[in-house]
Amino acid sequence: MTTNEIIPPHGGKLVNLLMGKDEAQQAVEEAGHLPKVTVERRELSDLEMMAVGALSPLTGFMGEQDYRSVLQDMHLVNGLPWTIPVTLSLDEGGAKRIGGATRIALMTEDRPIALLGVESVYRRDRESEAVSVFRTTDPAHPGVAALNAAGDFVVAGEVQVIRLPEHQTFQQYRLTPAQTRSAFAERGWHTVVGFQTRNPVHRAHEYLQKCAMEIVDGLLLHPLVGETKGDDVPADVRMRCYEILFENYYPHDRAMMSVFPAAMRYAGPKEAIWHAIARKNYGCTHFIVGRDHAGVGNYYGTYDAQRIFEEFEPGELGITPLFFEHSFYCVKCEQMASPKTCPHGDAERVILSGTKVREMLRAGQKPPMEFSRPEVAQILIDAMQENVDPRGLASPANDG
Ligand SMILES: [Zn+2]
Repeated sequence: MTTNEIIPPHGGKLVNLLMGKDEAQQAVEEAGHLPKVTVERRELSDLEMMAVGALSPLTGFMGEQDYRSVLQDMHLVNGLPWTIPVTLSLDEGGAKRIGGATRIALMTEDRPIALLGVESVYRRDRESEAVSVFRTTDPAHPGVAALNAAGDFVVAGEVQVIRLPEHQTFQQYRLTPAQTRSAFAERGWHTVVGFQTRNPVHRAHEYLQKCAMEIVDGLLLHPLVGETKGDDVPADVRMRCYEILFENYYPHDRAMMSVFPAAMRYAGPKEAIWHAIARKNYGCTHFIVGRDHAGVGNYYGTYDAQRIFEEFEPGELGITPLFFEHSFYCVKCEQMASPKTCPHGDAERVILSGTKVREMLRAGQKPPMEFSRPEVAQILIDAMQENVDPRGLASPANDG
C-alpha cells in the first residue's frame, strides 16, 4: 500500500517546500543580495513544520485574508478548517527594510534558511488575534505575552526552504510527516492514534494511550519539543521518561515515538484543533484530546478543547478525536479508571495534587506506583536535583 492510503493530508496533498541541492545552493547565493529578515524561534518552528508538510496545505506565511478568516471563522479562505494564524512577524524597522522587495531571505543564526516571495506586508490585529486564539488579552497568558512581544507587522508569501533548522537533540526522533507515514505503512498500521504531550507521562496518560491502542493499530507518541514556557519540564527530561516507558511498558510493534517540532501556544481549544490537523498530516487517523488540552492556568474550561470539535461538520477535520476524562488508579476497582468507568469516590482513588507530587519528588520520594511508574519517578527525582523548575513535573491531568 502507498503511504497516502492511511489518511489524506489536510487539503489532500502533503506539502514539501524543501529545495533540491542545486536549487538550494543558488538560493543561498541569491539570499546574499536580498533584504533579510531573521526568523525567531517560534516562527522557525512553524517554518520547519511548513517545510515538511506538517502544516499542509500551507505553503507560506499567511496573507491578511487567511489571517482574518482563521480568526473569525476557524477556516482558511479556501474553506479548510484552520484555527491558529501562521504568520511571520516584522517590527517597523523590518517592514521598512523590506520596502517594495518582491523576494526576501529568511535568516537564522546569520545564515539563510529560506526565500520568501513577498505577497503583502500588513499590520497585525493584536487584539482580535489574542481574543480569537487565546480567548483573553491578559498579558500574563504565555501565548498573549509571546504575541505582544512579536512585531506589529507581518509579511506574507510562499516560502522555498533551503534547509531544515539544525537540531542538536533527538535526531533519531525527528521524523517528517512523509517518514511517519511510511513508518506506519511499513508496520501495516491502517489506524494510528496520535498523542500530543508537553508533560511527563504518568500512569493516567499511559492509560489513555493504551485505551486508544485497544481500538487502533498503532500509537504515535508525539511529544512537542519546540519552545515551551519556562516552567514546563524541559524536553530532554521528558524524553528520558518516554524512552524508559517505551522500553518497559509498550509493545514495540504497536507504538512508536517521534518528536513534534511545534512551539506551544497555550491556546487550549484552538490549539487542540491545530494539533489534530497537524497529526493528520503526520498520518494519524485518531487523536487523543484529554482534559484541558494545550491549556494553561484557568483560561479554558476543562472540556472546552473537546467541545470545540463539535463546531466543525462531521468529517470536516478528517481525523477522529478521542475524548478522555481525568483518569486514576482506583483501589476498589483495582485498576486504572475514570469517572466514566468507576463508581467509587475520591477516597478509593489514588489522586495526588501537583503540589503533593512535587513535594515528594523534591524529597527524593517516589509517588505511589499507581500514580507514576517508578522508573519515570526516578528520572523526575534526578531532574529535581539538576534544578529543573518543578512546577511542570506533576501534571497528571493536563495532557497536551
Ligand atoms: Zn473504582
